[in-house]
Amino acid sequence: MVPTIDAFKCDGCKICVLQCPPQIMGIVKNVAVIITDLCEECGICNDVCPIGAVRFHLPEREYTADHPAYHAHPR
Ligand code: SF4
Ligand code: SF4
Repeated sequence: MVPTIDAFKCDGCKICVLQCPPQIMGIVKNVAVIITDLCEECGICNDVCPIGAVRFHLPEREYTADHPAYHAHPR
């Protein structure tokens, strides 16, 4: 699971940026960002964020590849 950042919550403290092992996080417009293609899914950013601005779980009812809605419109 690749984490995402709640841009309305993040205060740009950079704690996660400094702790990300592959160093693929940064700050843009005072908000943490992740180069998701290079994420190792370790979850450390989620663990260290003091205000819970990192989402590491799919929100309830989020669509996933095996969600039936993906197959609702065959090409
Ligand atoms: S899950 Fe790990 S590798 Fe991915 S952005 Fe967070 S700290 Fe970095
Ligand atoms: S640790 Fe949390 S609040 Fe700080 S920059 Fe990262 S996501 Fe934003």
